[in-house]
Amino acid sequence: MRLLSAAELLDIWDAGRTASPCRCSLLLLSAFLPEEREILANMPLGGLNARLLQLRTQLFGPTLNCLASCPACNAPIETAFGIEGLLNHATEPISEENFIHSFTHDDCTIDFRLPTAVDLLAIVDKSGIKAERELVERLIDKSVRNGESIPLHDLPEEALEALERQITEMDPLAHIELNLTCPDCGSDWLEVLHVIDFLWLEIGNLAKRILFEIARLASAFGWSEREILALTPERRRSYLELLEL
Ligand SMILES: [Zn+2]
Repeated sequence: MRLLSAAELLDIWDAGRTASPCRCSLLLLSAFLPEEREILANMPLGGLNARLLQLRTQLFGPTLNCLASCPACNAPIETAFGIEGLLNHATEPISEENFIHSFTHDDCTIDFRLPTAVDLLAIVDKSGIKAERELVERLIDKSVRNGESIPLHDLPEEALEALERQITEMDPLAHIELNLTCPDCGSDWLEVLHVIDFLWLEIGNLAKRILFEIARLASAFGWSEREILALTPERRRSYLELLEL
């Protein structure tokens, strides 16, 4: 992954402020992994999460410090997870574009793709059952029952639920759940880790810190934003330290 300048990081943050989480993932990864720009949107979602976790390690270190609330007693929980452990937990599925997998449940055979960022962007304005339905339509290439091709709306609900489980099993990094235990009441529960939300918050904090440095140096020395961003982070910090003397 290439290193980004402070100016590039601010540009990405600006561009992603009102974008969907999926769009933010692509913005970030395209900037850090320009050689993969063409394939990112069409790879299974677990591939994007794996790259986001690697990027998070590069930018902010290998440990995720998570805050959560116990669903049973509402106690605040603070816990830490190693990113390497999460990545080792799952291998990435085949990321060849539009790769078709086949799955059989009872007498139904379904040919399908794993969901990608392109699929999520296509349903970004929809919600609930409508979004789920459209996603399934996009993913299923062909469905056959007892040798006869059948339309999607004739597939039994159990077959679709089994397909969803199959997709989760095949691409485990697409939906990461953390196993948490409450130290107060001992309850266990699974907390979903939205990798991009977590990372975007940290990117936002970093961007605000850079903006603060720009504002401080601009008001003290009269430099422009462009001049300040041309300084290395170390040089900016040295000038800020001088202002504290
Ligand atoms: Zn509790």
